[in-house]
Amino acid sequence: MIIFLKKETTLAEEKEFRKLLLEKHIEVVSLVRNNQSLLVVVGKFGDSAKKEVQKHVQVETILDITKPYKLASKNYKLESSKIRVNGCNIGDKEIVIMAGPCSVESKFQMETIAQEVKSSGCHILRGGAFKPRTGPYDFQGLGKIGLHFLKNAAKMHHLGVITEVLDVRAIELIEKYTDIFQVGSRNMQNYPLLKELGHCRKPVLLKRGMWATYKEFLLAAEYILVGGNDKVILCERGIRTHVPETRFTLDLNAVAYLKQETHLPIVVDPSHGVGRASLVRSMSKAAIAAGADGLLIEAHHDPRRSVSDADQAISTIELAKLVLEVKKVARAVGRS
Ligand code: PEP
Ligand code: MN
Repeated sequence: MIIFLKKETTLAEEKEFRKLLLEKHIEVVSLVRNNQSLLVVVGKFGDSAKKEVQKHVQVETILDITKPYKLASKNYKLESSKIRVNGCNIGDKEIVIMAGPCSVESKFQMETIAQEVKSSGCHILRGGAFKPRTGPYDFQGLGKIGLHFLKNAAKMHHLGVITEVLDVRAIELIEKYTDIFQVGSRNMQNYPLLKELGHCRKPVLLKRGMWATYKEFLLAAEYILVGGNDKVILCERGIRTHVPETRFTLDLNAVAYLKQETHLPIVVDPSHGVGRASLVRSMSKAAIAAGADGLLIEAHHDPRRSVSDADQAISTIELAKLVLEVKKVARAVGRS
């Protein structure tokens, strides 16, 4: 349940109204959206209390949202959210493809790949400068100089930038280089990080935890939305199952389900989902057919030399083929 207060409500009037709610044992969390106060009701809100509150002079309307995630829910906003990045709208008719290496490795690598990413028809360049690696002895990323290589290469080819933020302390630095913050699967429930990104103005691509239910995923998105950042892009990247032949299992149920449940755009990362380069093209097409708004793909000019995730990196030649085929599927399902 969300109580929308009238826009002209003063702070003192809101305080008075909240006092009244408390007397009725109605607890709320207050947010501001478009200069309007919204009170999210925590816990129970009976019919008679609702009727009474509805009549209050300060109340504009009450929205019945029974789901635990409120702002992410379709009940809150029916039409799909479109997130503008570098001239394209993620969540609009045209699917958006983000591609690039798992890790930023060098200036040459990024410039070479950026050129291919652009000529393939992709919109956004990916590359990790801070890497969440399973082992502490694995390559951890180039850090700040990596961000520099990534941004410069993207700029040369008029591409947008997406890169991962691992830590609250790195937000300020990364914000200077990126167009989209990527929150990795392992950080989906890093609440301090999500809260801080809620105060940022740049879009956040939130990857689904490899263990997470849809509800947990949407509640993680809610943390960012509550903070005031409406620009959240969900990303399905595969979950842990009993199947050993692929690295993860790409759960395309998530795309269909989340499209019914939320107004937020959903993209798919088939690279981590399958963990094998030879399967990426098929699953990219399947993702778009299932209704995804875009793709996040690991591509490298020399995949075998990739310092991280080499098995799943497709070549830039393969990327060009993939984009052509994916666009055909997009057109077949009424997208472009
Ligand atoms: C990545 O995109 O390189 C990455 C580490 O992804 P995930 O968080 O999905 O494992
Ligand atoms: Mn990777």
